[in-house]
Amino acid sequence: MANMDLYCNNKRCRKRLIASAWITSCSHAFCDEDADQAFFSIQENIICPACNTHLPEKHDIVKVDLNPSEKFKSMVLAGLRPEIIMDVTNRALTFWHYQMYQELQYQKALNKRSCDNLTQAEETYTTEIMKLNALLQKEKRNTEALEKEVENQARHMGELQDQVVQKNRHLQNLMAMNNKLRCNTSTLQPDDGYDATKPKRRHYSLGLQTLRDLRPYDEVLPQNSSGQAQDFVFNPVTPPTRPDERRHFVTKK
Ligand SMILES: [Zn+2]
Ligand SMILES: [Zn+2]
Repeated sequence: MANMDLYCNNKRCRKRLIASAWITSCSHAFCDEDADQAFFSIQENIICPACNTHLPEKHDIVKVDLNPSEKFKSMVLAGLRPEIIMDVTNRALTFWHYQMYQELQYQKALNKRSCDNLTQAEETYTTEIMKLNALLQKEKRNTEALEKEVENQARHMGELQDQVVQKNRHLQNLMAMNNKLRCNTSTLQPDDGYDATKPKRRHYSLGLQTLRDLRPYDEVLPQNSSGQAQDFVFNPVTPPTRPDERRHFVTKK
């Protein structure tokens, strides 16, 4: 099983030890690369890279085949007395127990670090979520205010449209009244009674004024030699002094 394997005790290495391992008397295990660098690159004052224990003796460091042959298993403890065999076995089991305990502590430390990081991340994200929620609430309030403003503007637009409709209706009524007054005024005849003390009466329409409307009723058109009226003359002609003489003038229809 993977969790029953040895791992290099150099915390910067942590290589899984599969074929062989360098075992120290201080109960640590190392890979070939770390053993070469720690134990064989120097000649004296050898120390364990994991616990700084001095390892001066020959059997303080041994290389162990992790997949021993059947022949080796048969011969390694052969000839030893049972108590020695049990002592060797007990020490080997103690080493294994220590390695497993050390690995368990290492995994616990990793787990604790992960939990601490997770807690820190949760606190950070909780703070960020609170900030985002506050921002979201603010944006919601702004959106509601804008929607209310749009609603007010729409209501105001509706009121303005109603006013436009009413003013259009009023304008149409005024135009109808104007047309009616124009029709009534066009049927009026000039006053035959003449009063020199009153200002000269002119025939004006009450509606939209045109050149025809602005022309005085007593304006005469000059006649040509055949007696027909010539083109329109803009200059008003002073009416005769007496009403009966005005019948001789031709008025423009
Ligand atoms: Zn290593
Ligand atoms: Zn050690």
